[in-house]
Amino acid sequence: MTIKSRPVLIAHRGASGYLPEHTLAAKALGFAMGADFLEQDVVATRDDELLVMHDIHVDRVSNVAELFPHRARDDSRFYVRDFDLDELRQLNIFERVNADGSAVYPGRFPARTGNFRVNTLREEIEFIQALNQSAGRTVGIYPEIKRPAWHLSEGVDIAPQMLALLHDYGYSNPDDPIYLQCFDAGELVRIREQLGSRLRLVQLIGDNSWGESGDDYVSLRKPAGLQRLAQTVDAIGPWVNQCFALDERGRAPTSSGLVEQAQESGLEVHPYTIRLDSLPDGFPDLASLVHFCTAVLQVDGLFTDFPDRVGQLLRHQTAAVS
Ligand code: CA
Repeated sequence: MTIKSRPVLIAHRGASGYLPEHTLAAKALGFAMGADFLEQDVVATRDDELLVMHDIHVDRVSNVAELFPHRARDDSRFYVRDFDLDELRQLNIFERVNADGSAVYPGRFPARTGNFRVNTLREEIEFIQALNQSAGRTVGIYPEIKRPAWHLSEGVDIAPQMLALLHDYGYSNPDDPIYLQCFDAGELVRIREQLGSRLRLVQLIGDNSWGESGDDYVSLRKPAGLQRLAQTVDAIGPWVNQCFALDERGRAPTSSGLVEQAQESGLEVHPYTIRLDSLPDGFPDLASLVHFCTAVLQVDGLFTDFPDRVGQLLRHQTAAVS
């Protein structure tokens, strides 16, 4: 039986199963838990700083509505783009909540607890590179350009600014410890062809209903779509639910064929997101999901909120085979 090398472990928004997402504390914990890569989502502030935050909105992870009650847009949302970095630095960042204020993941770090702050992409890269030095390891970064078309409509072009920053910190070649990800296929083509980036690029694959970009992810997942993607990017990041099918009773997962077809096109596959407290239907526990991803699908990487638990399962499975 041929076994590929262990898939890379990507700490999704840091060790976000344990600490509020995208805080430096969550990144330090992900580092300590043995992640190979730490993920950054990147949005722009009003003064064009690149901030590490998952959403273009800041209201589900902070006390922005209390500190700046009159700064919501007509849709009642508070946008990162409407605040200068100095203002955003005043916010308490906390565990993600729903619109009604309830915790998205009730078993995780308690909501509205702690003293966490925003950080910029530059600050986070400096933090990770400093940890790499003090720990004698090389943990990579995995930044995502969020909603590039929306940002452009707001007057800011993130990609060139981000590529320049990454270059300044030593990320410019295909073998540097970085993957650059985006949901927007046209933006990735632009990054490769017009902006001339040689970094490893990842096409994220969503569901069309999410509105992440104008792309049709149904056709991108077909063999012709994957072959087209392979002309530009090095990897895809599909939703893990797109990688398997269940029987009529909602059990017995089998491969959907996506991972194999992508790999046949020369693409690596890094599915998202493996969560101990939000398992997809068809998997009774974390071990069965991780085993399926590695032994059946043979993925090349996994995004997880729980890098310790997934890392432990990966090491155990590798040891069992060798
Ligand atoms: Ca992301």
